[in-house]
Amino acid sequence: MTSRGIRKPARRTPPPAPAAKAPARLPLARGGSRGLSTEAVHERIWNAIVEHSLPPETRLVESELCDIFGLGRTRLRQVLQQLAHEHVVTLQRNRGATVARPTPGEAREVFAARRILEGGIVQTLLGRSARQGLRRLHEHLLLEEDAWRTGDRRAMLKLSGEFHLRIAELAGNAILLGLLRDLISRSSLIIAVYQSPTMRPCPPDAHRELIGLLEQGSPAAVDAMVHHIDHVVADLRLEDRRASGIDLRTIFTRSEHVP
Ligand SMILES: [Zn+2]
Repeated sequence: MTSRGIRKPARRTPPPAPAAKAPARLPLARGGSRGLSTEAVHERIWNAIVEHSLPPETRLVESELCDIFGLGRTRLRQVLQQLAHEHVVTLQRNRGATVARPTPGEAREVFAARRILEGGIVQTLLGRSARQGLRRLHEHLLLEEDAWRTGDRRAMLKLSGEFHLRIAELAGNAILLGLLRDLISRSSLIIAVYQSPTMRPCPPDAHRELIGLLEQGSPAAVDAMVHHIDHVVADLRLEDRRASGIDLRTIFTRSEHVP
């Protein structure tokens, strides 16, 4: 089974639009891309990256995206700025927006930094009493398992990153949490770009094992976290993937027709 992003509920063909006159855009309108919210467009772009439809350095041409999604330029820019804040998109004065391109070297550095930081976060958390918070991690795990069951890669990526942030929150150090937030955001793009679409981000099993060790207050939780991060890196195909001949319209209209 291929992984094609968010599975949409089956939808009947909508009734024909009343007398709306938009002949030039009719094919896209039928695909359902137009008139999306900024959140939905953000999600669509992220999904296209996670599904490997948009490789790094793909140009995200504003006018084209405005047309495809039926968004005004101001709202599209809000989406692009949010993606830039998440390190997913690079904004350049003369070149506009492109999908960010973490190099394999940067990818290794990000995960090396996470190894050090998250080992320390777990160590810090072991010194605190956070039983109630740890119980809440089980609830988060249920969401991750749901995403695994449905094969929703974007949700898996988002939830697995959030799991690591929850642990940092419980450790109670706002500086460590802020540093990790940045690294998780970068990691999400790295995993989206460099992980084979047939592989999956953080397995819930690894997270369950971590919760168990944290509940026991076991120092082995530090090593478990470090090994977990090593496994995530080992699953990446850290090689150059470059954009060539990507047509945004094909990407975004095609993904609408996935059953
Ligand atoms: Zn994880």
